[in-house]
Amino acid sequence: MRRHLAPSDVLRRDPAAQAIALPDGRLLVRHAGGASLLGGIRAEDLGRVLEEVDGARTAAEVAAACTERDPALPAETVLRLLAVLEGEMVHGGGRRQAPPLPRTEGIPVLAVGGGPLARRIARALRDMDGVEVRRLGRRGFAAAGLEGIALVVCALERTAYREVLAVQAACLAAGVPALFVTADPDGLRVGPTAVPGVGPCFACAQLAAFRFLRLAPATALAAVADLRAGAADAAGRARAAAAVAAEARELLRPGGEPSWVSGLLLLPPQSSDIEPRRLPRCAGARRGSGAPAAAQRAG
Ligand SMILES: [Zn+2]
Repeated sequence: MRRHLAPSDVLRRDPAAQAIALPDGRLLVRHAGGASLLGGIRAEDLGRVLEEVDGARTAAEVAAACTERDPALPAETVLRLLAVLEGEMVHGGGRRQAPPLPRTEGIPVLAVGGGPLARRIARALRDMDGVEVRRLGRRGFAAAGLEGIALVVCALERTAYREVLAVQAACLAAGVPALFVTADPDGLRVGPTAVPGVGPCFACAQLAAFRFLRLAPATALAAVADLRAGAADAAGRARAAAAVAAEARELLRPGGEPSWVSGLLLLPPQSSDIEPRRLPRCAGARRGSGAPAAAQRAG
């Protein structure tokens, strides 16, 4: 019996496999196992999907990349197509080869950011036992799937908050906890640790910070989206990385007690002070979604 293709399967192409379009619209595929006919698949879609199968990415990542290139090609359609092609033009179930980043076995944690802050944080996370850390820039994150990720640490620098809100929206949609680190004019913020359905998210933290504007949530978030996260200095990076590692350890440890699920830590510049801040509950948490409509729109 053919095995079921899982979204987490790393896909590689059968280099010898060929597909030709028949006059009746079906595709004739010749592959290592013989020949077969595929119906309901357009040759151009097939070509587009196969282009993304690079031997390193999972089915979910291939699907996300296809959808990013062509929004008319939904990820579910690509996954269905890949499932049909499995065993003929593509092979799943392989282990990642030539990983783009160092990987160890362990709990998968994703650091998001291309700058020194995200790199420093990824290094601190890699020093922890039992954690498998990947780091992706903003674009890589947008193309990647979040399946199986236990924690996202978002440490985007020199980036509009719009991008941070987009990371938050993706994590809420996937039900993945996310910890935010932002370099702001009044200091480095570590938190909140947004656990979907439990505590405040990054959007809530912004709404709380700018409550004095007395704007409707959607209006306030639209304005906040234009603010920019700055860059951290070396001392700030080290302090933030230590705080992130401590928080991640508690969040990922069974029975652990993360500190910033209901608040955040402000590390003022040129100072060794720490200022814990409490945040109100996420507007959506009471409904169990953890995602206020405004935050989703912002994403
Ligand atoms: Zn929220």
